[in-house]
Amino acid sequence: MTVQGAWQRAARGALLLDDDGTARTTIFAEMSALAASTGSINLGQGFPDYPGPVEVTDAAQREIANGNNQYPPGRGMAVLREAIAEHQKRFYGLVVDPDTEVLVTAGATEALSAAILALVEPGDEVLTFEPFYDEYGAVIGLADGIHTTVRLRSPDFAPDHDDLRAAVTDRTRLIIVNTPHNPTGAVFDRETLQLIVELAERHDALIVTDEVYEHLHYDGSTHTPIATLPGAAERTITISSGGKTFNTTGWKIGWVIATAPLISAIVAVKQFLTYVNGAPFQPAIAAGLQLPDAFYRDLASDLAGKRDLLAGGLRAAGFDITLPRAGYFIVADAAPLGYDDGGAFCRALPELAGVVAVPISAFCLPGSAGQYGSLVRFAFCKRLEVLEQASEQLARLSV
Ligand SMILES: *Cc1c(COP(=O)(O)O)cnc(C)c1O
Repeated sequence: MTVQGAWQRAARGALLLDDDGTARTTIFAEMSALAASTGSINLGQGFPDYPGPVEVTDAAQREIANGNNQYPPGRGMAVLREAIAEHQKRFYGLVVDPDTEVLVTAGATEALSAAILALVEPGDEVLTFEPFYDEYGAVIGLADGIHTTVRLRSPDFAPDHDDLRAAVTDRTRLIIVNTPHNPTGAVFDRETLQLIVELAERHDALIVTDEVYEHLHYDGSTHTPIATLPGAAERTITISSGGKTFNTTGWKIGWVIATAPLISAIVAVKQFLTYVNGAPFQPAIAAGLQLPDAFYRDLASDLAGKRDLLAGGLRAAGFDITLPRAGYFIVADAAPLGYDDGGAFCRALPELAGVVAVPISAFCLPGSAGQYGSLVRFAFCKRLEVLEQASEQLARLSV
């Protein structure tokens, strides 16, 4: 029996619908399974293999013990909404009303789904940068939107401004901006962010930002939320999450910040996706957001050290790499090792070196995948000994 339904639009949007009408599993699931079956080091999926701050994990345990185990309020617990507002003020000077302009969600994932489903009408164009996080394509498909892209080109993966001007039209409803960017680690400069705001104003589009890597910045680079630019706040839906900042990707506590009318529209959808989630984790993430600046500095410098270790290993193995200024990932070019096809290379890598990575082409529309042919993504959010072992094993590629 062929099961008809909107799932086909989601699968097609995430580039997972085969010609025979069946859905493939994601490359992340395929590669994680390959890592498990071959006993390889999994640098494919971006989750940390070390714990978050004790202030955060202890708080969650206390909350459960003290009975915070029932439905929290629909927009999230006040303690977390207030901590989110305070965080925006402390780091970016943004003033937001925790009662009307903040919504707690089941991770950034639900925040993105609810925002796209709430704001896109069938046939509206939604612009993303490419390569793109697979969820964007899936939910644009579910909403029956039309997915358009601006390509980010190696080595710096900065968008070309003329490409961007040509891509935004009166049909564009949303522009989804992910900076720092997954998978490339690119950080959009201020001029680019300014242009995005100008284009959104000119064409009456809304901007959705995915800022889950906002605190993972290296080499003195800083994060500029689009909402801080002149004229941007009224048309920007800012999305972030505690998962990447506090090493709690399994907790799924995310949030949306936007004007009161936009939040109301997004709540109208969100309440029927999950209603609410994660009661004991909400005050724990609030405690994390209140940690002193030293925590945030150490987080970034620890990750920069991990990045440098893996970068050294990849270079020694013969890859061409671009050192990312942010995020969890290094993009490496396997062409110097004699591989033109990143997908084929990733399927061979467990056998060759006992390491798993994912091809950048998995984040691209079929027509663009060729542009990124030999590029693969390695996660460095792993313990130093794991990265050392991976580097040692990758060295086998160069002999
Ligand atoms: C991890 C990730 C998300 C999902 O965040 P959750 O809070 O785990 O739902 C969203 N966007 C990007 C770019 C990510 O890397």
